[in-house]
Amino acid sequence: MNYLQYYPVDIVNGEGTRCTLFVSGCTHACKGCYNRKSWSFGAGVLFDHAMEEQIIKDLKDTRIKRQGLTLSGGDPLHPRNVETLLPFVQRVKSECPDKDIWVWTGYTLGELDDYQRQMLPYIDVLIDGKFIQEQADPSLVWRGSANQIVHRFKSNEF
Ligand code: SF4
Repeated sequence: MNYLQYYPVDIVNGEGTRCTLFVSGCTHACKGCYNRKSWSFGAGVLFDHAMEEQIIKDLKDTRIKRQGLTLSGGDPLHPRNVETLLPFVQRVKSECPDKDIWVWTGYTLGELDDYQRQMLPYIDVLIDGKFIQEQADPSLVWRGSANQIVHRFKSNEF
């Protein structure tokens, strides 16, 4: 998996102060996509062991307390990205159990297959659905268009 951008201290992509990773690769091709260069799975740089270690270190940093980790993109729930992100979110929840995980995806919750749904037990907040320009509304919180849903999962829901 490649990623486009990593923000070690981020206050706009989810609640609280967060570590945010924008992964590469998305096949939804939404009209009006805010970041078309994220569509290519080859964009950005490789998410390697050093990057994973850096994020874990940042999440554990007590000088700047992070509420959690945000995964956006691109699409973190594209199966090609799930392959890398599933063991990563499992590690985050194991080593940083007090941190929440927010994920933005272009799939609706109902569209996720069994493989993708393996991510759900580790996700606290999922914002789902394609960006639909005709339903765009800048007053929405955490969402770009009205079709998208903010799912707040309780632990053990899956
Ligand atoms: S799901 Fe997000 S990244 Fe993918 S095309 Fe739609 S708006 Fe762009």
